[in-house]
Amino acid sequence: MSVQFWQQKQLHELSSQEWEALCDGCGKCCLHKILDARDDVEDDEPMRSDDTLHYVNVTCQLLNAETGQCTQYAERLKHVPDCVVLSPENLERILFMPASCAYRRVYEGRGLPSWHPLLHGGSRQAMEAAGMATTGYPLRNEADPSLTEDQLQIITWPLYDAP
Ligand code: SF4
Repeated sequence: MSVQFWQQKQLHELSSQEWEALCDGCGKCCLHKILDARDDVEDDEPMRSDDTLHYVNVTCQLLNAETGQCTQYAERLKHVPDCVVLSPENLERILFMPASCAYRRVYEGRGLPSWHPLLHGGSRQAMEAAGMATTGYPLRNEADPSLTEDQLQIITWPLYDAP
């Protein structure tokens, strides 16, 4: 695998191995979200770039909050049918990903952030030190029966759109 494959190819040209490697493992896409949209938005209307997506401190039932990894990655759709599985075929759904998401950054021509694990030999340390991973946040699992609505909090990432 070329070290800078994400600079040499378009997203739809990546091999499946390269596609998977591009994910930084931040886990943000596995959080519950609140869409702050225009008043006139229809239910089936696609998200627009001027809509705002807030990330909440509640995770998908399948996220391991200590590692930032999905516990059923290969079979996640069996367990969570509405999981947004981003692929080269549905990049129009990229706005559901956080601005820091590696796929979204590459798609929007912003390249990888300085803390991305691919730029650090696969280490998550720089990403976690920059506060860009879900690991380290006091998250709640959606399947936790003790979770109540008043415990929900919007998370603001410290370096939301860092270079
Ligand atoms: S937000 Fe993007 S980079 Fe982060 S875990 Fe999800 S798919 Fe991977």
